[in-house]
Amino acid sequence: MTSPALVWFRQDLRLADNPALAALDGRPALLVYVLDDEAAGAWAHGGAQRWWLHHSLASLTADLAARGASLHLARGPATRIIPQLATAIGASEVIAGRLYEPWARSRDAAIAEALQAEGRKLSLHTSSLLHEPHRIRTGTGKPYSVYTPFSRALFALGEPPPPLPTPARIETLAHPGLPLEALELLPKRDWAREFPQHWQPGEAGAAARIKAFSLLNRYDATRNLPGIPGTSGLSPHLRFGEISPRQLWHAARAAGVTGDATFLKEILWREFAYHLLWHRPELPEAPLQQSFANFPWQPDAKLLRAWQRGQTGYPIVDAGMRQLWRSGWMHNRVRMITASFLVKHLLQPWQAGEAWFWDTLLDGDLASNAASWQWVAGCGADAAPYFRVFAPVLQGEKFDADGAYVRRWVPEIAGLPDKFLHKPWEAPEIILRGANIRLGVDYPRPVMDHGQGRARALAAYAEMRGAA
Ligand code: FAD
Repeated sequence: MTSPALVWFRQDLRLADNPALAALDGRPALLVYVLDDEAAGAWAHGGAQRWWLHHSLASLTADLAARGASLHLARGPATRIIPQLATAIGASEVIAGRLYEPWARSRDAAIAEALQAEGRKLSLHTSSLLHEPHRIRTGTGKPYSVYTPFSRALFALGEPPPPLPTPARIETLAHPGLPLEALELLPKRDWAREFPQHWQPGEAGAAARIKAFSLLNRYDATRNLPGIPGTSGLSPHLRFGEISPRQLWHAARAAGVTGDATFLKEILWREFAYHLLWHRPELPEAPLQQSFANFPWQPDAKLLRAWQRGQTGYPIVDAGMRQLWRSGWMHNRVRMITASFLVKHLLQPWQAGEAWFWDTLLDGDLASNAASWQWVAGCGADAAPYFRVFAPVLQGEKFDADGAYVRRWVPEIAGLPDKFLHKPWEAPEIILRGANIRLGVDYPRPVMDHGQGRARALAAYAEMRGAA
């Protein structure tokens, strides 16, 4: 008789293209999800992610139930729970998708050792990336630190293999676990009430999103315009593995995306972030460029709060921060603008912005979030140079020219004509009055003058270089 296996769901909450399920090959299995906040420490799921996770687990449970299968939920240290469950069901193998976060890597090593001591094994499969970061090397055998040659190398590897089918039958073992509510993932105060208007967590929601992304073939023209649905909005689904990157890749090809199109390059930015995290595990906490270790940040709780609340007085920044708070997501162009504003105009440490995004983004992803913040701050691998300071007004006028984005998220200034929408402080009093706006009362004056903020940022950069 074949011995059962334990399938441990982590960041692959799906049935299709799931290598761990495929590896069962007809064996009976206990399917498990463990909420292990302790092991993740500071990088335990942020508040928005927890909302998503709750609904994603509910969806996975329902999808399994429709196939007569069940999901065992547990909460606590996986280093204890996984070996215990494996012993309880007499599993010879624990199968999971590989994780890349430093805390998860050391946890997996400990679990593999504990299992091995009992004659069992931990098998990890490539499930949430196209390629294993440790397999990709430059011609001289080093990890990549620049995106373009990295992406070229990945394109040169050819098309990813086709996705695996959803298993027709999964024979699960019954073993009582916790009810979903016992994971306490939903917020106590209902700040997430608007999320369901924007999102449908789960595998079916991911499939619906791809189908609905009608602008995919115009991605180059639409991806920088936050006022329209010009990007896929798939990032939270990818974050929780409700769709795999290779399913997305092949879906894009099937929709007519050819060659090394920009959309595929964006998927490779995600791979690059994981490549960096794997080879530079300090990525979420410390600047990759040593010279930034002593950057003269000026931490200021009031300025940080104005940014978090979308009350900086710069409409494009405030629209982004409010979109984030209310919908759990922000457009990529606006992520760059808001992040640049925080670290450059306001001189707040990038880690403060990273932590806020981590808590409020539904797609909060350790690799992409950290790599992107370091990119904007100028201290990462292949980063934007620090002295390139985004001008929020020009960015707003260029990418939200008709003001649709700002008017949606900052309704109190919606009545301003386009000419002043991105710089209300330049509007004559009569125009402000006509739009029902008292600056400093209904909408803030800028917390920092652009020219002054820019000069201060450049001076701080010069100080750092002088000290280096
Ligand atoms: P699309 O444009 O449809 O792209 C498809 C997929 O490609 C995305 O879902 C995503 O997985 C990947 N992708 C696209 N752009 C990037 C990028 N620049 N870096 C890495 N992957 C990318 N992305 C996250 O998934 N999680 C984060 O926590 C995160 N934090 C960020 C923080 C900052 C400061 C910045 C500037 C960017 C951050 N990004 C993060 C990257 C990017 O903004 C999002 O992936 C993108 O906005 C998601 O929207 P979409 O699914 O519509 O993207």
